[in-house]
Amino acid sequence: MPMSQNFKDRLFPVLDKITQHFGTPFHIYDETGIRQTGEMLKKNFSNIKGFREYYAVKALPNPRILEIMKSMGFGFDCSSVTELILSRRIGAAGEDIMFTSNNTSHFEFLTAEKDGGCILNLDDISLIPKVPNMPELICFRYNPGPGVSGNEIIGNPEEAKYGVSDTQIIDAYRKAMAAGAKRFGLHTMIVSNERNYTYKVKTTKMLLELAEKISDALGIKFEFINFGGGLGIPYKPEDSPLNLEALGTEVTKLFDNFKSKHGYVPSLYMESGRYMTGPHGVLVVKAINRKDIYRKYIGVDACMTALMRPGIYGAYHHIDVLGKDMSGKTEVVDVAGSLCENNDKFAIQRELPEIKDGDTLIIHDTGAHGHAMGFNYNGKLRPQELLLRTDGSVELIRRAETADDYFATLNFKADKILF
Ligand SMILES: *Cc1c(COP(=O)(O)O)cnc(C)c1O
Repeated sequence: MPMSQNFKDRLFPVLDKITQHFGTPFHIYDETGIRQTGEMLKKNFSNIKGFREYYAVKALPNPRILEIMKSMGFGFDCSSVTELILSRRIGAAGEDIMFTSNNTSHFEFLTAEKDGGCILNLDDISLIPKVPNMPELICFRYNPGPGVSGNEIIGNPEEAKYGVSDTQIIDAYRKAMAAGAKRFGLHTMIVSNERNYTYKVKTTKMLLELAEKISDALGIKFEFINFGGGLGIPYKPEDSPLNLEALGTEVTKLFDNFKSKHGYVPSLYMESGRYMTGPHGVLVVKAINRKDIYRKYIGVDACMTALMRPGIYGAYHHIDVLGKDMSGKTEVVDVAGSLCENNDKFAIQRELPEIKDGDTLIIHDTGAHGHAMGFNYNGKLRPQELLLRTDGSVELIRRAETADDYFATLNFKADKILF
């Protein structure tokens, strides 16, 4: 199931009023749904001591959303300077932040250690001497390499640019210790948008075994393992959801076994982005043009700069038409934006209720990697973001970009240097 019936019941009755007040297009997020998912996540891992979700900020980098995450006790997974600043601006500090960057620059290291620091998750052994001040707590991202298969989205670990290789991982911790590290974590991420929970069980087993191996070699204890993000959501109506309960139960068993064998056990951290907010956001657009050539096209008032997943991954996003359903007249159409790119389509050859100019279309599951992936090609401006609060109010949490925003980095006056 894409967008939940409960979210529809909260949104659809007031959607006409919201579009009249704010105009379209916009992404709108559902606080109630986000909180329910967050509480469900905590509940299913509640028997693992110190369990913590570090919300992947890149999925929906908006302070109002991050505040919701913080109020549920979650930390933040950041991978850029601006994500660090954003997380700190809403009050996250120190070990509330996990900095999982790759190809890290000196400036990023300096920002990471500022303002109370963060948990530094290093992507390579060569970065150890480049850390300006080795913190007490250090984590490495592990890349298991050949023999472990990722899923189709993230690909084969052997071809992935991320992480420390299997042959270097023990040395990496040894070198970090020599540089002053005293507390340790271990991270990996080998699947993305995966609804089969057994991948994460296998990942947990692999990380716990690796933690054991490194501990034996170096005489250290791990405070946490972090199995990354990648919990999948159903985008298509026929997709089954991830079995979070089974994941919680089986992962907890692995932690209990580790505890009985070693007398202590690390905590479990995860960095879900999509799973937390993906289903709890929709992109609302208006149909503005109809075109009947070799195919039928419904032109809408947003384009792929507001949601590029269909364009770059061929991703399916379910679409509803407000006030119409499939029991009436339907037709097969492409739903298109206005960009000068033929992959600027929200749906291709999709059977939908017959759409007229002025109809409101609801594009599902845009709460993660939606607005955040937006861009300005063709001078297109990104849309506003709204938040449907649990009390029923609607808050503008990011205004639409304006032409002035677009021109803000340009120099219209001469600014020449002769070298
Ligand atoms: C993107 C990313 C995540 C979040 O992935 P989701 O698929 O949104 O859960 C977590 N950790 C890292 C390191 C990432 O790059």
